[in-house]
Amino acid sequence: MVKLIIANWKMHPATVEEAVALARATDSPDLVLAPPFPFIKPVADAVRSSPLAAQDVSYEGSGAFTGEVSAAELVSLGVRYVIVGHSERRARGDTDEVVAKKMEAVLAHGMTPILCVGETREEHDAGKAEDVVHRQLTVVVSLNANRSPLNALVVAYEPVWAISRGDPNAQPDTPDHAVHMIQFIRDTLTPKPYTLNPRIIYGGSVTAKNARSFLVRAEIEGALVGGASLSPENINTIVSYASAGRSTK
Ligand code: PEP
Repeated sequence: MVKLIIANWKMHPATVEEAVALARATDSPDLVLAPPFPFIKPVADAVRSSPLAAQDVSYEGSGAFTGEVSAAELVSLGVRYVIVGHSERRARGDTDEVVAKKMEAVLAHGMTPILCVGETREEHDAGKAEDVVHRQLTVVVSLNANRSPLNALVVAYEPVWAISRGDPNAQPDTPDHAVHMIQFIRDTLTPKPYTLNPRIIYGGSVTAKNARSFLVRAEIEGALVGGASLSPENINTIVSYASAGRSTK
């Protein structure tokens, strides 16, 4: 299987016409598209091959929850993946416990969670990256221990300090440090009591220029791409590197 590339459009573009044009220009079985909620259906209708992801989900099943979107509603649109625990959601109040409940809702509806973990700049500089990622993983995975198939899990190592937030000069992590953290994530989840074998990908300022340096590394099984996914030229280049560097699963 080729490496997994996910295009997280965040709150872009502004119009449905632009969303459909972007989807058509990047449509590929090797690229998962995560449009904003209102554009999921039009994008689903426009593409032939790209699987669809949602950027977030409510952990509530249904009811009086104004503004929330349920897992069942996403399934009904054909969504296959859901991002949970993105740092931009954590910054707006999602605790590890909330992320765990969102993951439970995603799994209960047969979709694959993309669990984002990663340390802030302060935590990184204080040498706490592994502690933070360990806590984020174990809280969320422990609270879902009885869920199957938890092996459908994708984990995205996204150091918060490397996420571009639209800054073209933002710096990614180094491939060496990303590999180190991905190996740490695998070493945390592989032994008992978790015995998981997730696909583990990297996210944070991946661009057409640097993607190859990450995707050639066997441990990095894909990329979560924000800013660069809004440019068909950039994201299609990234996808071409991913197709060249095959992962083990
Ligand atoms: C992200 O927010 O998940 C992300 C990886 O963004 P960017 O590629 O813009 O750093």
